[in-house]
Amino acid sequence: MEFANKHAVVTGAANGIGQCIAEAFLREGATVTAIDVDKTADERLPNISFFYGDIAEEFELKEFVRSLTQPVDCLINNACIGRRGLLSECSYEDFEYVQRVGVTAPYYLTSLLLQNNLLAPNAAIINIASTRAFQSQPDTESYSAAKGGIVALTHAMAVSLAGRARVNCISPGWIDTAKTPEHSEPDKHQHPVGRVGMPADIAEMVLYLCSSKAGFISGENITIDGGMSKLMVYHADYGWRLG
Ligand code: NAD
Repeated sequence: MEFANKHAVVTGAANGIGQCIAEAFLREGATVTAIDVDKTADERLPNISFFYGDIAEEFELKEFVRSLTQPVDCLINNACIGRRGLLSECSYEDFEYVQRVGVTAPYYLTSLLLQNNLLAPNAAIINIASTRAFQSQPDTESYSAAKGGIVALTHAMAVSLAGRARVNCISPGWIDTAKTPEHSEPDKHQHPVGRVGMPADIAEMVLYLCSSKAGFISGENITIDGGMSKLMVYHADYGWRLG
């Protein structure tokens, strides 16, 4: 029970990776508070204290922080979305909204915790980025920019918060949040570890990075993608066929 008497805040904990992270903290004895727009969460996840709001909105973040009754030991900036990019004519508003969810909210939530003396001593902050911060498919500019932003935000915050909090980032690759019963052989094979990722692969690293075992790690990004982004692909080599 590494996190007994600790308070974890997870954004986007109503589904997917965020839910798995929140449940992992609960299992380890932490109290978990979350902010999400999905109002079905209370019924499904009664042990997590949900505040319903859009993290892209300054006033909702302020209300959320005002509702907190306990300093935060672990802040997990998990929620994000994408609204495509150049090939879909992603609008100014769409692009900017994704940056607010993916970069501004992690920054401002941290700032509000500091201003309100709600960041516990020796806190840990984990930002969830993506391998898409480092590599792209076409038409993904809004998401990739937000993910690149949160990687850089991580080292900036780690330096500013020296002595107050360790700040680290995790960049997941393909994580199956839909519990697909079986993946195709090519889907598995494109990962050097031979399988697609699971939310628990990310949650376990979040717990480790928040724990005292990771006391010498700050400002770091850790890619968890089964090795997929390290695999060099040349058409016709090693059985790879492109196009
Ligand atoms: P998901 O869509 O399954 O869950 C995201 C959660 O965030 C949802 O509960 C949603 O309601 C909430 N949310 C979305 N916008 C919000 C907002 N504006 N305000 C409050 N809550 C909001 O996503 P996921 O796949 O679990 O991804 C979680 C994180 O991991 C994201 O940052 C995502 O970019 C990152 N990631 C996921 C994968 C993957 O393959 N699943 C890969 C790389 C990175």
